[in-house]
Amino acid sequence: MSKIRKGKVYLVGAGPGDPGLITVRGKYILERAQVVVYDYLANPKLLKYVPKEAKLIYAGKKGGVKHTHTQEEINQMLVDWAETGKTVVRLKGGDPFIFGRGGEEVEVLSDSGVDFEVVPGVTSATAAATYAGIPITHRDYTASVAFLTGHEDPTKPGSNINWAKLATGAGTLVVYMGIKNLPLIVKNLVDHGRAPQTPVAVVRWASTPEQRSVVGTLDTIVDIVREAGIKPPALIIVGEVVNLRKKIDWFEKRPLFGKRIVVTRTREQASELMAGLEENGGNCIEYSTIKIEPVDSYEVLDEELERLEEYHWILFTSLNGVKYFFERLYARGMDARSMKGPCVAAVGKATADLLLEYGVRADLLPDVFTGEGLAESLLDQGVQGRNVLIPRAEKAREILPETLRGAGAQVTVAPVYKNVAPVGKREQLREELESGKVDMVTFTSSSTVRNFLSMVDAENDSDLKRLMHEVTIAAIGPITAKTVTDTGLTVDIQPETYTIPDMVYAIVDYYSK
Ligand code: SAH
Repeated sequence: MSKIRKGKVYLVGAGPGDPGLITVRGKYILERAQVVVYDYLANPKLLKYVPKEAKLIYAGKKGGVKHTHTQEEINQMLVDWAETGKTVVRLKGGDPFIFGRGGEEVEVLSDSGVDFEVVPGVTSATAAATYAGIPITHRDYTASVAFLTGHEDPTKPGSNINWAKLATGAGTLVVYMGIKNLPLIVKNLVDHGRAPQTPVAVVRWASTPEQRSVVGTLDTIVDIVREAGIKPPALIIVGEVVNLRKKIDWFEKRPLFGKRIVVTRTREQASELMAGLEENGGNCIEYSTIKIEPVDSYEVLDEELERLEEYHWILFTSLNGVKYFFERLYARGMDARSMKGPCVAAVGKATADLLLEYGVRADLLPDVFTGEGLAESLLDQGVQGRNVLIPRAEKAREILPETLRGAGAQVTVAPVYKNVAPVGKREQLREELESGKVDMVTFTSSSTVRNFLSMVDAENDSDLKRLMHEVTIAAIGPITAKTVTDTGLTVDIQPETYTIPDMVYAIVDYYSK
C-alpha cells in the first residue's frame, strides 16, 4: 500500500494556563495544524490559533475524574492520524516532558515509525512560583530545586521517590499532583528531617484569572488547604523562598485580579477593551452581543459615491461606518482620492485614527465625542445650505441628521452596515448572572446595552434589577449611560472622555479605591 503524504506529530507544550505563555514555535505549529488533540490543562483559548477546518479532539485527562480517553487510546489516535498524512498537534499542559506522559507518547510514535517533534513549554512549577511571587531559587536561600510527583502510579509497588534523600537534599521542592496526598507528602518530608516550620505555598490554577494561593508551613499547610477548599490542579512549593512572596507577590495584587467582567462588544471590537482589562488582572468574559454585517443593499451609498464632489461634509460616527464605507468605495474601483472635495469629520479620536489608516485626515474632531458634540461643532462652522453625507449603521439615533437639517443642511444618510444580535450563549449569560458570578458589565454603546438586555431576557424591570443587583455597571459615555438608566439600572462607572483606554482607567480607578 502506498502512503499518501507523510504525517507528523508535534508534541507541543501549551504552557501553564495563561495563553500568552505558549512559545512562538508552539503557536507557529498550532497555526498549521490539521488535527489537534488537547488536554484538560491546555488552555482552550489557544485553539483560536488553529485553522478553522482543523479537527479538534478533547483528550480529557482531568485528575481524579474518569479520563475521556485512556493513554493507550490517545497514543493510538496520534499514530492513526499521522498515518493518514495529517499534521497532528498533541497540545499538552505545561511542558510535555514534565509529568505529562509525553515521553510515553513519543516512544509509541517512534516504535510506529511516525515522524515527530517536541516543543517544550513553560512548566506549571515555574509559572506557579513566578505568578505567586516566589523566586524558585535565590542566592540567599537555595541553590537547588527538585520537581516531584505527589501522585505516583498507583499500580507501582513501593515508592519511586527517595524521600530520605529529597526531604533535605534540595533547597526548594515543587510537588505536582500532590493535593490528594498532601498529608502523606508533608509527613514524609518531616519524618525525613525537613523542619516543620519550613514555609509552604500551594498554588491552584497558576497564571490564570482563577489563580488562588495559600501559604503556611509544613506544620500548618494541610489544615490551611483543607479550610480553603483548594482542589487540583495545584502545586506545592516547599522551601525558604516561599517567604519572599510577602514582598514579591505581584500577579494577585493587580487592581482587577479576580474580577469577572462581562465585555459586551462586537467580536471585532472587543479585543482592545479586553486587553486593557486583562492587563490589569481582570477576568473577562466576552459576550459578542452584536455582530456587524454589511447592509443588504448599498443603493443609497452607490448613488452618492457617484457625486461625492458635490458634498461639503462627510461625517463618520463610528469605526464600522469608516470600515464599511471604504470597503464599498474600494469595491466600486475608487479610493481615497475620490474624497478630495468634501471635508471630513470624525465623531472621536479612534474613528479619526481609523480614517487615517484609509488615507484620509479628519478635518474636524468635536470637543465632545458624541453625535450631539459633532452636531454642535458643525453648527459652529455654519451648515446652512451645505450637503452632508453620513455613512452609518442602518438603525442609529437620528439626532445628528435632524439637528443638521434643522440648521438648514441637506443631509443624506447612507446605511453601510447593520447590527445583528446573535442567538446562543443566552443561557450561559443568564446562568452566570443568576449564580452571582459576574462582578461587572461594560457597555461601549447603546446597542450593546440593548443587545445585552435582549440576551438576558429579563421578565420585567424588577427581574432585571434582581439579576443585576450586585453587578457594577460601566458605560463609556453619557448616551450609553442614559440607555442604561432608562432601563432602571444605575451606572457606577463612566470615564471623563469616551475612549476605551479611559474606560479601562476609570474601571481600574474604581476598584483601586
Ligand atoms: N506537564 C505539566 C504537568 C502535568 S501533571 C506541566 O509541565 O506543568 C498535572 C499537574 O500539574 C497538576 O496536578 C498540577 O499539580 C500541575 N499543574 C498544571 N497546571 C497547573 C496550573 N495552572 N496551576 C497549578 N498547577 C498546575
